Amino acid sequence: MIQLTEEQRMIHATVRKIAVEKIAPRAASIDESDEFPMDYVDVFKENRLFKMVLPEEYGGIDADTTTLCLIVEELARAYASAPQMLITTGAVLQMLLKAATEAQKEKFFKRLEKGTQACSFALTEPGHGSDAGSLQTKAVLDGDHYMINGAKAFITTGEIAELHLIFVRTGGEKAKGISVMMVDKDTPGFRVGKKEKKMGFNGTGTVELIFDDVRVPRDNLIGEVNKGWSLLTGVANMMRVWGAGCTALGNAEGALEYVIEYSKQRVQFGKPIASFQAIQFMLADMAMEIEAAKSLIYRTAYLMDTNGASFDEIESLVCMCKCYAADVGMKATTDAVQIMGGYGYTQDFPVERRMRDAKSVQIYDGSNQIQRVVIARNMIGRL
Ligand SMILES: Cc1cc2nc3c(=O)[nH]c(=O)nc-3n(C[C@H](O)[C@H](O)[C@H](O)COP(=O)(O)OP(=O)(O)OC[C@H]3O[C@@H](n4cnc5c(N)ncnc54)[C@H](O)[C@@H]3O)c2cc1C
Repeated sequence: MIQLTEEQRMIHATVRKIAVEKIAPRAASIDESDEFPMDYVDVFKENRLFKMVLPEEYGGIDADTTTLCLIVEELARAYASAPQMLITTGAVLQMLLKAATEAQKEKFFKRLEKGTQACSFALTEPGHGSDAGSLQTKAVLDGDHYMINGAKAFITTGEIAELHLIFVRTGGEKAKGISVMMVDKDTPGFRVGKKEKKMGFNGTGTVELIFDDVRVPRDNLIGEVNKGWSLLTGVANMMRVWGAGCTALGNAEGALEYVIEYSKQRVQFGKPIASFQAIQFMLADMAMEIEAAKSLIYRTAYLMDTNGASFDEIESLVCMCKCYAADVGMKATTDAVQIMGGYGYTQDFPVERRMRDAKSVQIYDGSNQIQRVVIARNMIGRL
């Protein structure tokens, strides 16, 4: 493990306590009901975790990437769904820190004092997922307001977010005509649409967002008009390391810890199944691959924190963190089910949930195919 500062150690210990005492005991019931866990919201608010990326002057904890990794990994080790509301909010606030004016920061950070404090990050549309550069939700300038019409799909935390950061079309040409805007949930014409019934990742409030003649002040435009794509690639995509990457990592670690104990207890042919080499090799592979994912993630986080590496310099590493950790998470949780046999396949034990949750990380935040496309393109160029 990397060398942590005293402050990182303290935050890690606090989050571990929260994960063990408040997050883990509720995982099975949240998975079952798919209700948004407002008790988690309260705990995260109390511990300033929604504002974790903000400087202390704005009530945050000024978390660097390594600290964000520690927080997400620890929460996901208890329950993969738990940190998702913090990831979407953290990504939005990082975007505002980077691109908003002082007046906008003041306005939106203050707005977050009210209600849940959660934000959603809304890029995907019903017709545009991987090809997000073709998105169609339109914002048309009308005096000192923008009029927004369209819909977003699969938006995590959308169900309870106070503020939504949305990508909209303000110009004609694919990625060159996209801007970023903030929409308050109380704006007339805005509503939360259908809630997705998913195979896992329950309790994350994944919904459609509907914009029907939504008028927002021109001042809700973040950064320059038609330059939203560079904010996405240069700022937001960094969250793949501490968001999706650490979600997959923590979830896999939780599965491994569970099956180590199970395999020592479960007796077949008069011996604990952990004594069979077939089981030992699966455990060894899980541990090896989890360790490799962890090294990749924390090394990348270190580069971001200490070398101030820009996204262009480390884009492939960022994609590798997300893609590799998600694949490791899928394999490790699938093997965890295998190690537990029939019991692993039942809902009486947590590993089948971990396997369902692991699948989502291979899809969201840019599918693993798209990460591979980018990694390959950075090696061989655009052919
Ligand atoms: C649980 C969950 C939470 C999510 N949360 C959010 C959120 O908070 N905000 C948000 O904006 N979006 C969110 N999404 C949406 C997510 O980012 C998209 O689902 C994802 O980008 C894939 O888009 P799609 O589902 O439209 O699949 P499609 O783009 O239709 O892709 C279908 C398949 O084709 C493959 N494919 C597509 N293009 C290529 C290509 N060029 N080369 C190779 N393969 C390709 C994909 O990898 C995939 O396997 C979430 C999704 C899920 C499942």
